[in-house]
Amino acid sequence: MTVLTALKPASATLPAGNERTSASRRAAPHRICIAQGDGIGPEIMEATLRVLAAARAPLEVRPVQMGLSCWNAGVTSGIDASTWDSIRELGVLLKGPLSTPQGAGMKSLNVTLRKRLGLFANVRPVRAYMPYVHSHHPGMDLVVIRENEEDLYAGIEHRQTDDVVQCLKLVSRQGSERVIRYAFEYARTRKRQRLTCMTKDNIMKLTDGLFHRVFDEVAREYPDVETEHLIVDIGMARAAAEPDRFDVIVTPNLYGDILSDVVAEVSGSVGMAPSANIGRHAAVFEAIHGSAPDIAGRNLANPSGLLLAAAKMLAHLGEGDIAELIHDAWLRTIEDGVHTADVYQSATSVRRAGTDTFADAVIERLGERPRALRPSAYPRHRLALFDPVERAPARKCPVGVDVFVHARTTPEQLAGRLCGAGAREFRLQMITNRGVQVWPAGLPETLCTDHWRCRFVLQNPGNRKFHDQVLGLLHALSQAGIEWIKTEQLYTFDEEPGYSLAQGQ
Ligand code: NAD
Repeated sequence: MTVLTALKPASATLPAGNERTSASRRAAPHRICIAQGDGIGPEIMEATLRVLAAARAPLEVRPVQMGLSCWNAGVTSGIDASTWDSIRELGVLLKGPLSTPQGAGMKSLNVTLRKRLGLFANVRPVRAYMPYVHSHHPGMDLVVIRENEEDLYAGIEHRQTDDVVQCLKLVSRQGSERVIRYAFEYARTRKRQRLTCMTKDNIMKLTDGLFHRVFDEVAREYPDVETEHLIVDIGMARAAAEPDRFDVIVTPNLYGDILSDVVAEVSGSVGMAPSANIGRHAAVFEAIHGSAPDIAGRNLANPSGLLLAAAKMLAHLGEGDIAELIHDAWLRTIEDGVHTADVYQSATSVRRAGTDTFADAVIERLGERPRALRPSAYPRHRLALFDPVERAPARKCPVGVDVFVHARTTPEQLAGRLCGAGAREFRLQMITNRGVQVWPAGLPETLCTDHWRCRFVLQNPGNRKFHDQVLGLLHALSQAGIEWIKTEQLYTFDEEPGYSLAQGQ
């Protein structure tokens, strides 16, 4: 599908003198893809496009196919092949929510989009709109920026023994650096006061430790941004209890996934929250809610999440003035008590609107600003995206190998068999079970499964024939009837150990 349609207002909707101008509006329109989505998707997309057209957003839209229409047509990935071409060509997608078909994971479609398109930062602003929309935290106004591609979401999982499965948590310096830089740029350009980093680096010293270290390094380049680091458990508890104390939060993928839902829920305005997925070559904008099949086709859906996502999209395209025009009209609509059923409350609402009449109300208010709520403020230029700094490789020196073994045994018996296997170039240093040291000096109380990590250290580290030595060790273990299932080579990098110690070591 290569149809591109220019958005045109139904009538001259902007009051005279209120039309905002920008250099780019006089240039060629921005070309974007739109995916209507499933359930309420078509209704809220229609409402959103009407507001965009009335605001004279300089856009040409190309509809693309994904979601149920694709699955029903037998496209198992859920995305039409031509959709990839269109998104890659135009670089921006405004997306309605997609339903999860039986037997396939919606998450995986979203994850596929993020990873294939390199959308490294997920940005979710969450704000309370008291007294117009009820919230337990009237002052909250924060942004969660989540790393979007790495961490446990690499999805590399294995069953290794009868008892044990594993999921690899991958964190890269480059992946951490680009989302952290994005968060600093975001905080600086949006005039946000403070950037909080949340990790669990008291336990995961290498993976979360890297994210935290990169945060501290990049922070030195942004002395104007106040920073703090919180361990994610207490950080998340505080974000739920006192969200008003936070401004911008940057965090690895899994924590960010949970945190952004927690703060959206406590804000009271989960149905109105937008989300942006930002990459170097593409960006995807959507509401955070799902396809709401229970109210689909009934003109009940609140289009606010998608509309605010569209405002973020305009800012991303360098049209901050039109983003503000729309966002301020929306704020004024909320203040005037024009509310869809999901946020309607008799004390503060004046009129119960349908999806279409809510959009009409926003269009009527284009050019007006909120009276009580803080007006929107979008930057006038695209946020700069920085490539990670190139670094010289570290000096890497082999020092040993962790051999993982599948066996129903005891630590002492296993140690005896390993030491008796005759691996002369290595010394058995310790055995752990589920990360806890069980040999030497284990405790009988520790639960042992059939999955053992056996750490062998080189008698003479730094030998050039390291891989041959490891193969020799594995061969000796095989000959002794020991079922090894995988290895992790141990190296120092610039004299720093590139591996964790055992718990209890
Ligand atoms: P949901 O967000 O669709 O609905 C939860 C509740 O909120 C429902 O009662 C619904 O009526 C209401 N609601 C949601 N959005 C609303 C809106 N704009 N206006 C008024 N009310 C609204 O969550 P769900 O029911 O768990 O999921 C439905 C489908 O959406 C599932 O197939 C799910 O996988 C999918 N989903 C998609 C996305 C996405 O595409 N980004 C995100 C979440 C869920």
